[in-house]
Amino acid sequence: MAKHKLKPIETNYVPSQVEEEVLAYWKKNHIFEKSVENRPENNSYSFYDGPPFITGLPHYGHLLGSIVKDVIPRYQTMKGKRVRRVWGWDCHGLPAENKVEKQLGINSKKEIETLGIDKFIAACKDYVGNVSAEWEWYVDHIGRWVDFKNAYKTMDTDYMESVIWVFHKLYDKKLIYKGQRVSLFCPRCSTPISNFEVAMDNSYKDVTDPSVFVKFKLKGEDKYLLAWTTTPWTLPTNFALGVAQEETYVQVTSNGESLILAKSRLTATFGDEKVKLENEFSGSDLVGLEYEPLYTDYPAKPQDHQVYAANFVSQEDGTGIVHIAPGFGEDDTALGKEHDLTVAESVDEEGKLDPKITVAAGKFFKSADKLILTDLQARNLVFKLESIIHSYPHCHRCETPLIYKVQKAWYLDVASLKKQMKATNRDINWVPGHFKHGRFELGIDSAPDWCISRTRYWGAPIPVWECVCGEVFVPSSIRDLEDWAGKKITDLHRPDIDNVTSKCTKCGSLAHRVPEVLDSWVEAASMPYGQRHYPFENEKEFLANFPADFITEYTGQLRAWFYVMHVISNALFQTHCFKNVIVQGVIMGNDGRKMSKNYGNYPDPKDYIVKYGADSLRLYLMGSPIMVGQDIIISETDWQEQLKTTLMTLWNSYKFFINYAALDNWEPKIEMEQVPTKLDLWILSRLNETVLEIDKQLGAYQIPRAVATIKPFVSDLSTWYIRRSRDRVGPTTLDKTDRNLAYSTLRTVFVVLSQAVSPIIPFLSEFIYRHLTGEASVHLADWPAVGTPEVIDQNLIRNMAEVRRIVEAGHAFRKTNNIAVKQPLAELTVKGNFEDITIDNQLIQLIKDELNVEEIKFIGGNQLEVDFDTKLTDHLIKKGRARELVRAIQEARKAAACRLDEVIAVVLPDWPVEFEDYLKQQTLVRQITRGEALTVVRGE
Ligand SMILES: [Zn+2]
Ligand SMILES: [Zn+2]
Repeated sequence: MAKHKLKPIETNYVPSQVEEEVLAYWKKNHIFEKSVENRPENNSYSFYDGPPFITGLPHYGHLLGSIVKDVIPRYQTMKGKRVRRVWGWDCHGLPAENKVEKQLGINSKKEIETLGIDKFIAACKDYVGNVSAEWEWYVDHIGRWVDFKNAYKTMDTDYMESVIWVFHKLYDKKLIYKGQRVSLFCPRCSTPISNFEVAMDNSYKDVTDPSVFVKFKLKGEDKYLLAWTTTPWTLPTNFALGVAQEETYVQVTSNGESLILAKSRLTATFGDEKVKLENEFSGSDLVGLEYEPLYTDYPAKPQDHQVYAANFVSQEDGTGIVHIAPGFGEDDTALGKEHDLTVAESVDEEGKLDPKITVAAGKFFKSADKLILTDLQARNLVFKLESIIHSYPHCHRCETPLIYKVQKAWYLDVASLKKQMKATNRDINWVPGHFKHGRFELGIDSAPDWCISRTRYWGAPIPVWECVCGEVFVPSSIRDLEDWAGKKITDLHRPDIDNVTSKCTKCGSLAHRVPEVLDSWVEAASMPYGQRHYPFENEKEFLANFPADFITEYTGQLRAWFYVMHVISNALFQTHCFKNVIVQGVIMGNDGRKMSKNYGNYPDPKDYIVKYGADSLRLYLMGSPIMVGQDIIISETDWQEQLKTTLMTLWNSYKFFINYAALDNWEPKIEMEQVPTKLDLWILSRLNETVLEIDKQLGAYQIPRAVATIKPFVSDLSTWYIRRSRDRVGPTTLDKTDRNLAYSTLRTVFVVLSQAVSPIIPFLSEFIYRHLTGEASVHLADWPAVGTPEVIDQNLIRNMAEVRRIVEAGHAFRKTNNIAVKQPLAELTVKGNFEDITIDNQLIQLIKDELNVEEIKFIGGNQLEVDFDTKLTDHLIKKGRARELVRAIQEARKAAACRLDEVIAVVLPDWPVEFEDYLKQQTLVRQITRGEALTVVRGE
């Protein structure tokens, strides 16, 4: 054991002070770097960091994620693993483009093109280049160890080259196709959006839309089919109506008009209005009927404007007759395809209606609603117009309402991978487990083919060069592309990459790159390859660390990052991408709503980290059900509670030990000199039990279960071990052997405990460990080896629990009978069932001391009951008086600022003479003289 002089601690626990000091120490001494490099290269534990989007300030979700990403690697490092941790930035995609558009004061693709793509891209590069320095503050101050300086960026040429390689591989495997499918489309951003992008942060919002019942006149008859829609702007492209074949439909008269609708929707449609039932028939009777088109802006086919059977017609809303606009909506488009109906692409890239639509030519689709409704009303084709509040998908970036629109795009054939994705999911350890076959697998089941192209600018290019003759070139590397194009490639971004062309090897025409860029989720999914520039570099390192041992993100990523990573690794390597995954929940604002600056519903993270410290935040979040995928409401009280109940208690316990040990010039000895007391053995058993449990739970990624052991242990240490050891230590102690035993025990407790809790509370544990041992860092230590079951005396733990129950009952008795603990009593009778319990003399003594009683008698009984002999003899009264005086003198010593080992004299008006020696010994008093009031006399 290295010689290390113990220093007392003067202050109370101030988290920011401790944490700033530790942070500065770590930085100055490169402790993080050492913690990685100290471990053998061939024993790695791989962790993949999901890249956050580069702009903005971190929010609680980021902090939470970062803490988890710190706890597990710190633990694995102590278990001997080398855990490389490199930060990553997600740079590309709509989020950045939207911000840059705002900065430049432009608001559409047209304006970008007018400005010039080169200028726009330059602005994007600038924007993501200015990584907020604030991030580093947060990452440091929550105690996350990660290589921030060498962060990978998805916009780096190396990274993009790996992405191009990934695309090439997928293309080679015939997993990529260009298709025309319905998908979500943002009319402001003019690009397809993945359904999982909308799902992940719940970009569904309640909006008010028109709810309109439109009359479609049957050809040659004076009857109307009544259909319902909330998107009047699609009515000019209505080419069919859908009905449910099996349902019953009726013809009714309302205000002299004959209307046809589903019977089950009568009440909902007419309410209290009395309508006359004219006729009743089945849905199949309606199939094939022709009706007059509302609009004739587009030429129609003979099969258009008829009633078709459709299996998606709901009886839950509307009229049971559905307006069909092929090209908008998946069902509509499928039905249109089935019957070869006209598809009119009536909305352009910017969400504006086709000039052909006379009633609302060139209008933004949302503003076309009103014009179309006014027109239909004028022609008496609207039965009823109301409004409806419903949940509608919005662009996750610009918040524009999205539309389902048929579009040409590049797709990844997920359907053909599903079986394998489900098979390899079996090899993933999900925490909590229910996500495995729950949301994750269901997500795979229901996933459509992945629309991987964006008709945008700032992203990795779709690396496909096409020729008019149909010849296609898909390079696998920059080198490959350079050879083909015969020129040096320095930037893979648009517009430079668009200018790379070459003569087609087949026909000699000039082949051009397709205009789209990749969905930035393809880049995020390529992180395992891109971060190491695989396969162009680091092949060995890549292979040794793939699949990852561990990843973690929040529930939103079940259908996003977790999913896309799984898709790509299955497509490329027929394997899963990560072995263990912790799914975090979401932190909600204190009013239960999403956290928002506008609502002011959460404490500012920076202020509160300074106020309560990061260790308390880590204890709070890591101990909460958010670590098993549940959402929580942020609670300042719960955060503060960690500080008060656990950290301050731990600090004060340590302070008690170190200050007395320092005062006594105690030095640790390697071996214990004598047999430990039951109290010592008990706390050591509890320590080992706790360490073993933390080890087991962190190893199983069950962080809250590991955290749950800390507070009870700290409480046992403080409210029982230290409480019952107070008289064993310090200058008034007579039995130095026993005193040393207590110090040795406490030293073991603090060394081992600080090691075991260091992954969770890295700051305070570091402070205690270094302060106590003088060693470089707790985070360079190995996992404590003491946590083996053999050193846990379960019997003793059980017996001590019984002792504490008796003590608790004793205190309760004194309280109800109003007898202060400082008044000694003659006898305690304990009634109870002690068959499996052994309360030996040492334990009995603990009870006597704690309850201040001279004798204890045990008698049999079913339930624990205690009873004191409350008769006060002259002896007991004097003894109580002496104890009262000890307390009073100790208070007076404190008030006079005496050193703990300072010997003093006192003046007392009166004291029980037979307890004079006891008084003097307990309070380091040399002499007592009689006088008027209690007075401390120093320096004599
Ligand atoms: Zn948008
Ligand atoms: Zn060609």
